Amino acid sequence: MSEILNTLIIGSGPAGYTAAIYACRAQLEPVLVCGSEVGGQLTTTPEIENWPSRFDAPDGFSLMQDMSKHAEKLGTKFIYDEVVKTDFSKNVKEVYLSSGTVLKAKTVIIATGAKARYLGLESETKYKGKGVSACATCDGFFFRGKEVAVVGGGSAAFIEALYLANLCSKVYLIHRRAEFRAEKVLVDRLRKLEIEGKVEFVLNANIKEILGDGNLVNGVRVESNGQNRDIALSGVFMAIGHEPSTKPFAGQIELYDDGTVKTGFTSETSTSVAGVFAAGDCSDRVYRQAITSAGQGCKAALDAEKYLQSKL
Ligand SMILES: Cc1cc2nc3c(=O)[nH]c(=O)nc-3n(C[C@H](O)[C@H](O)[C@H](O)COP(=O)(O)OP(=O)(O)OC[C@H]3O[C@@H](n4cnc5c(N)ncnc54)[C@H](O)[C@@H]3O)c2cc1C
Repeated sequence: MSEILNTLIIGSGPAGYTAAIYACRAQLEPVLVCGSEVGGQLTTTPEIENWPSRFDAPDGFSLMQDMSKHAEKLGTKFIYDEVVKTDFSKNVKEVYLSSGTVLKAKTVIIATGAKARYLGLESETKYKGKGVSACATCDGFFFRGKEVAVVGGGSAAFIEALYLANLCSKVYLIHRRAEFRAEKVLVDRLRKLEIEGKVEFVLNANIKEILGDGNLVNGVRVESNGQNRDIALSGVFMAIGHEPSTKPFAGQIELYDDGTVKTGFTSETSTSVAGVFAAGDCSDRVYRQAITSAGQGCKAALDAEKYLQSKL
């Protein structure tokens, strides 16, 4: 493909597909590079209960297929490949694919998402989506009235634990140290719930194994001060950080220390390089939801259109 594209979108999650839908309607004839996880993070989820209008709670794979069809129907061209390198030093941006193809575009929308960090246990992988989750806002509802654990000691872990304490009968906060990186106000709030018996802190503790019946989680085995303890529960929420998928952009645009794309330079989704925009989990450290990613994808396409118009 030697032509210079108006808009190249990288990533096929809610942010990428929504950007494509808006870019098509602005007649930008977008090309979208799907990456290795076609459809993004949602494709592994059995039930989505918070996508407006879909009260039938579709599985994530079908929801993302519908978004893909919508983008395709309006004219998006898909490339099933992965971006390995970028050069944003000139007006026309260059994007290198793993196949060796080099794409050239006037505007680029980065929508490459982020991946939650997990502990790396075999049993954790076995029970992902069957009691092991990394998103309380997404999956907490399925555990209402049940006992769950949150793993981590940062603010994100405390926010997840506070959210779950509203839904669940008891929340164990499991942390490998006795001190927390979380904001004091969050720690104080959770300590208050501890007094009420809604929360139990399990500190200086490492999870050795996620326990289950082969189908669903029914407990965790933690090791603390040389002693093993089995805790019976139904869900384990990992809150030990997220890793944005932004390696191909390092050195080209400004990133935060954790790899999140910095935005908000000249418009909400603009990056530090004119003509390059970012949307969704790759540039979001707060909300990380399908609907917020889609919303940012919409904004990025509108920002790209405005940028192109300013160059006419
Ligand atoms: C198990 C689970 C359940 C969830 N449940 C819900 C829920 O019920 N409701 C909700 O609102 N949210 C839920 N979420 C969160 C939601 O999935 C994310 O917020 C959302 O998918 C982020 O969308 P995105 O488009 O930014 O990125 P993603 O969905 O992560 O998509 C990123 C895309 O970028 C592509 N990509 C990455 N690197 C490259 C590269 N180098 N080159 C080309 N392409 C690349 C990937 O292939 C992928 O297609 C859940 C998340 C998980 C993990």
